[in-house]
Amino acid sequence: MDFRNLGLDPRVLRAVDDAGYTEPTPIQAAAIPVILSGRDLIGIAQTGTGKTAAFTLPLLTRLAAGHSSPGHIRTLVLAPTRELVVQIHDNVRDYARHLSLSVATVFGGVGEKPQIEALRRGADLVIATPGRLLDLMGRRYGNFSGIGHLVLDEADRMLDMGFLPAIRDVVRQLPRRRQTLLFSATLSREIEAVAGEFLQSPQSVEIGRRSNPAETVDQSVYEVPRHLKGVMLQHLLRDPALAMVLVFARMKHGADRIARRLEQHGVRTATLHSNRSQNQRLRALAEFKGGAVRVLVATDIAARGIDVDGISHVVNYDFPPAPEDYVHRIGRTGRAQAVGSAISLVSPDEADDLKALERFIRRTLPRRRLEGFDYSAPAPAAIPEPHRGGSRGGRGPQGGRPARGASTSGPGPRPPGGGGRPGGSSPRGGTFRPRRFR
Ligand code: AMP
Repeated sequence: MDFRNLGLDPRVLRAVDDAGYTEPTPIQAAAIPVILSGRDLIGIAQTGTGKTAAFTLPLLTRLAAGHSSPGHIRTLVLAPTRELVVQIHDNVRDYARHLSLSVATVFGGVGEKPQIEALRRGADLVIATPGRLLDLMGRRYGNFSGIGHLVLDEADRMLDMGFLPAIRDVVRQLPRRRQTLLFSATLSREIEAVAGEFLQSPQSVEIGRRSNPAETVDQSVYEVPRHLKGVMLQHLLRDPALAMVLVFARMKHGADRIARRLEQHGVRTATLHSNRSQNQRLRALAEFKGGAVRVLVATDIAARGIDVDGISHVVNYDFPPAPEDYVHRIGRTGRAQAVGSAISLVSPDEADDLKALERFIRRTLPRRRLEGFDYSAPAPAAIPEPHRGGSRGGRGPQGGRPARGASTSGPGPRPPGGGGRPGGSSPRGGTFRPRRFR
């Protein structure tokens, strides 16, 4: 399949060429002709499948074939989070680089003035989160009477986040004659109901519904006492192969603590969670994307829709209780055609969650042992574990900057019975000492 056979505008094709895409992904091959034909569409596809281009490329083609009209908005894309809005905007800008179309974004957490100005001017495409958009529409900013296309991106997430009433209020103010595209990772009864409400005779395209995570992701588990997770993460990071690492923490304060610890050990780290201001979050993402920081520590909510190419490793510092979250997390690596790795640090209190995941994905993940790691070490004294006093100063047993050339491998499956680590100084290698659980 070639992009050239899909009916896209030659200038859009040039941008696709510039982006280095050689062939359409399955969702693109299936959705682009439907969207170009003007029909409504339900696309069931996860992020990482190329779905942003699947709707953007044909919409840009259709917009380029029509006429902009000053003061009017022609296309509206609704997305659940500010990060996703920014990412869609980045993509749209790339794909529209050889066209003269105007694009604006609307999202909360930042000043509204530039957004109001942009709505006043009108735009060929507005990408927005529902809350801020509804707020501005309520104050009569923006002329939406000429909207020809509406996209509901990550509709399942928007429902999870309670945006349905806001979406309804927004859609009520749009023309009824329009093309509507809905994308969702899963097709639930709720999504079907929403599609029934907002779409007309839609065509459905369903791509790679994965209860099984992407095959390109190499998954492994390191069983480790909870109090040694931080030390183990530092140890793992001695391997330069962990070049661009997304670490998942369950809680915001946990994310901060992990980042602090890594920074103290010389690893450039940023955090992404909802306690951070919008600007801090955007800066963290930009630094991560640009390579200025090697590790980004995020919570599940903040990481939704993160679209960063080249993430080499996803590390589950805290194992997610919901299997769907695991699948979503590891989908951040191995995107498009790339190969990625997912490493889970699993403490005894998380063993049941791991079992539940393995039932869900119908396979047992390989257990690995970290060579040269002291599984029976006491908690490091240098940086306290959460809610635990602890003295500063002094170095933990694995302190100091990463040793060059240190190996983190141990790719073989764990020996049965949790046998001692090779060459270990630990008298009780592989035996867990559960300490304190959250
Ligand atoms: P998305 O599912 O929209 O989040 O896209 C996932 C990633 O795939 C993005 O980083 C895109 O740049 C990339 N991508 C999209 N379409 C293609 C394609 N046809 N070939 C290669 N990479 C692509």
